[in-house]
Amino acid sequence: MIPTCTQCGKEKPESRVDPYCAECRRARNIKWRTENPEKHLEMSRRHKRDAQTRAKLEFVQAYGGKCTCCGESEIHFLTIEHLTPEGLALHKWPNGKRMDTLTTIRRLKKAGWPDYVTVLCMNCNYAKGMFGFCPHDDLGTFPIRFPGSFPERRYPGTMEG
Ligand SMILES: [Zn+2]
Ligand SMILES: [Zn+2]
Ligand SMILES: [Zn+2]
Repeated sequence: MIPTCTQCGKEKPESRVDPYCAECRRARNIKWRTENPEKHLEMSRRHKRDAQTRAKLEFVQAYGGKCTCCGESEIHFLTIEHLTPEGLALHKWPNGKRMDTLTTIRRLKKAGWPDYVTVLCMNCNYAKGMFGFCPHDDLGTFPIRFPGSFPERRYPGTMEG
C-alpha cells in the first residue's frame, strides 16, 4: 500500500516515515519558522556552527592535523594560511570581500585540497602576517620589534626601529 499524507491525503511513495508529503512538509516548516522566529534563528545558528566545526576538522586533517610551523595541534588555535596571493584571491568574493571560513573550506575541498593553502596556528599566522616571518623561522631573518621578549634567544644584528 502506498502511504498517504495525513494532511492532504495525497499518495506519497517517497517516504513512510514522514506523515506528510513533501509539499505539506515544506508548508509546515515555513509555518513553524514564522511562528517560532527565535527558535528558528537559534537552530540555524547551531546548524551553522556544527557545519563549521565539521568543515574545520576535515580541513585540518586534510592538511596534516597541525600547525606547519610549530606543530600546534589544538584545533581551536588553527587557522587557514594562504601561501600565495593567487590562492588568497581565490577566496575573496568578486567585490574584494573576504570569504567566510565555511565557504572557503568547501571550495578547498572541491578543489582537492590544493597546496596554495596550509594550516598555521594563530600565533604563527599572526607573526607571518605581521612581520613576514615567524619567530620559529630562521631567527637571523626575523625583524626585532620587541627587544628582550625572547631572553633565551639571541638575535643577531642590531635593534632598529
Ligand atoms: Zn500533503
Ligand atoms: Zn604555530
Ligand atoms: Zn611559527
